[in-house]
Amino acid sequence: MDTAPLPLSIPFDNSYASLPDQFYSRQSASTVSKPELIAFNRPLADLLGITGGQDSELAEIFGGNKITDGAEPLSQLYAGHQFGQYNPQLGDGRAILLGETIGRDGQRRDIQLKGSGRTPYSRGGDGRAWLGPVLREYVVSEAMHALGIPTTRALAAVLTGEQVIRESVLPGAVLTRVAQSHIRVGTFQVFSARKEFDALRQLLHYTIARHYPETDGPLGFLKRVIESQARLIPQWMGVGFIHGVMNTDNCQIAGETIDYGPCAFMDSYHPMQLFSSIDQFGRYAFGNQPDIIVWNMAQLASALVPLMPDAQDAIELFTKAVHDMVPLLKKNWIRVFSAKIGISDPREEDEILINDLLNLMAEGRADFTNTFAALGTAKARDEFLVPDKFDLWEVRWMERITGLDNVEETLSKSNPILIPRNHRIEQMIQAAVSGDYYLFQRLSEAYSAPFTKNHSFDDLRHPPNDSEIVRATFCGT
Ligand code: AMP
Ligand code: MG
Repeated sequence: MDTAPLPLSIPFDNSYASLPDQFYSRQSASTVSKPELIAFNRPLADLLGITGGQDSELAEIFGGNKITDGAEPLSQLYAGHQFGQYNPQLGDGRAILLGETIGRDGQRRDIQLKGSGRTPYSRGGDGRAWLGPVLREYVVSEAMHALGIPTTRALAAVLTGEQVIRESVLPGAVLTRVAQSHIRVGTFQVFSARKEFDALRQLLHYTIARHYPETDGPLGFLKRVIESQARLIPQWMGVGFIHGVMNTDNCQIAGETIDYGPCAFMDSYHPMQLFSSIDQFGRYAFGNQPDIIVWNMAQLASALVPLMPDAQDAIELFTKAVHDMVPLLKKNWIRVFSAKIGISDPREEDEILINDLLNLMAEGRADFTNTFAALGTAKARDEFLVPDKFDLWEVRWMERITGLDNVEETLSKSNPILIPRNHRIEQMIQAAVSGDYYLFQRLSEAYSAPFTKNHSFDDLRHPPNDSEIVRATFCGT
């Protein structure tokens, strides 16, 4: 006999809501007319300690209609540099933090609704999201997680029954995002710029206790954030990921990938590949990401200076910490790309070997994912414009990895077969807008095991044909 599922229970254990008022505005989600559950990530819910909940209840809660026990809804204040320009006040313009749980793994995480209506930080915006970006974030963030890259996650997607007006009238939706926290570089910037140094100090203490408890003080903290980001960005690059909008408000202190707006995975490789339609000058192009993260860390450093007893000392120490990030990024980049070619003990000179391969790939715009996936097989050379040049590279490579047995198996651990290709995401969104979620389900399943060969997903390995190519991505807010 079927038993009705128990009511939803979320074991909230909130801490951000205990910070003073100036950190946020208490704000409930706007109600929506007809919430319908599109997806609920049960394994993630289990990890968070969430139990029960049937679809209609989940739709009410994660669509924003019902406040569940223990939630203390609020929108967070932050600022940030957007495309290099400081914007003194941003904040959650369309997001509401329900609260935090401490998961089965002991990790504290935020549960946040995104697209849940206007807040005091909405400025001119409607506080809403439409279905497209919600499904994109759901699929791409979960794919990133499966690829082993630190990221915010997706707990639920709900169709609201509301219409959202963008270039056209579109179905509204709400995403439930889960993150180690939503503290950003821009959260530090806002209090520093406003000269609210007590709040800034309190934020530092809170953030250290939450994310970097083994360190203390502004300098130790800065170094730890730098280390996290210096790990993250090379991991993006290793899968051909372009974030697209690395503003300081989209740069999370815990070192997770956050904000899947105009992001994209590259099909054909070019170091300066760019998709975002709002990035006029290519500031956030693929190959610029390491420089930009250093720039972002310099902004964090500047924001922390007032917490140091001596400004001159602080500037010297912080400048050194930020400069030290450059070789650290390089080291991690070499580690990521060495692993992609089967080298587990990278040496400095391997950089040349890797760059020579990438240059050959760029020459003929080889498919990034498929080229790495084909290395060590007879098919690899077909990916290159001038296969003979690849043959020469391959000889040098083989020499470097002599002694490595099981080349194919070793490589397959660092080279995914499946990445969320832009054209597939677009096709999924188009189908969903017309009410068909089959592709959403299928892509979610396929991308949950990106390193595993599964012939039923072979079609998802193909790069787009000419008519399918996505040339630009949009913020889609
Ligand atoms: P993003 O580009 O998504 O990082 O957003 C930048 C800022 O704009 C953040 O403060 C967002 O909360 C805000 N924002 C984005 N879309 C909307 C919207 N539809 N309504 C209100 N605020 C928004
Ligand atoms: Mg953002």
